[in-house]
Amino acid sequence: MKKECHMLKNDVLINDQEEQKEYTDYFSFENLQILLEEQIKILKDTFNITAEKLNDKLTEMTDIIILQRIQSEENNLTYKKTPLKKVSKQQTIFLCKTFLSEINPSWLAIFNNLLENNNIIEDRNDPRIKDVIRYDDIWQSIKSNNENYIFAPWQENIMDSISLIHEFTHYITAVKNKGRKDYHELEEFSSIFWEKQMEKFLEKIGYDKEIINIWELNRQASIILNEHDCFSYIYLLKTLLRNNKITMDDKLSWINIIEENARQTCPDYDIEKDYNCSKEELAREEGYDEFKKLLTNELEIIESYSYIVGEYYAKELSKKTTEDKDIIPNMIEITENLPNLSSKEILEKLHINPKTLTKS
Ligand SMILES: [Zn+2]
Repeated sequence: MKKECHMLKNDVLINDQEEQKEYTDYFSFENLQILLEEQIKILKDTFNITAEKLNDKLTEMTDIIILQRIQSEENNLTYKKTPLKKVSKQQTIFLCKTFLSEINPSWLAIFNNLLENNNIIEDRNDPRIKDVIRYDDIWQSIKSNNENYIFAPWQENIMDSISLIHEFTHYITAVKNKGRKDYHELEEFSSIFWEKQMEKFLEKIGYDKEIINIWELNRQASIILNEHDCFSYIYLLKTLLRNNKITMDDKLSWINIIEENARQTCPDYDIEKDYNCSKEELAREEGYDEFKKLLTNELEIIESYSYIVGEYYAKELSKKTTEDKDIIPNMIEITENLPNLSSKEILEKLHINPKTLTKS
């Protein structure tokens, strides 16, 4: 969750020359096409649509990415270097309990149950989760052997309470829908909505807005990274759907898109300087992080997109909770029932118009 200029560089350093060669071969031109074809299959299955409809879906995704960018530019957050005071685990638990008792007492009972069963786990080597944990330093809700847990890498500051509410609301969806498939396009939407309610609650009980802003800025920075990934992949996927193959010119355009994207975060970004070679060489070789992500996590695009669309609609909805008293009870129902509802049904229930640039 950090902003940086060299975000496009491989995070794995390859020292061995042999290994370097293998790595370059692996990401060869032909493999790119195979990877993208595979990705098209995954997206068609996930959204349960034909190739033709997939093109519309990809356009809709690009539109949401652009709208999300406009929204975060309007946000205009300022970062004040405020040292974070220590908040103990017990205090965090107390804050979450107070928040949940205001929102929904039945969720408080589930939270108490989670604590009693000792299912908030801080040790990544805990035998209950060690084989399925994905990251060592990020809060996660985890399913293992048909049981649900929250992995808690405590920071012992106020951010813990927001992370815990985010993961706890994923946990609610999971325990209320045991055995259902894991992915839903709006899965992050509900958790990001609840995390924003937690931010409001913390402000209400006296926490400094500047401190809450730190969370918001981190959220925004991680969304920007998600946007970079999605935007450039979608460009290539649409090209492949249209032409059935990716040419060298397509790849050059794609590299320009990556550079343009990076300039939104770092205005001076120069991809040729960053990689110490020309764009043409880059297009031929492509040892990018971009592909590694697609290879190591085939759900990279749909997972990243879930955060982008989630942040966009959660922010819109959060602005209206004071005037519209139905939002909180509706969101409780949606969070509990998420896998059984389509994105369209959810947005209709919340009176949100599904926005796209092409339609408006
Ligand atoms: Zn989440």
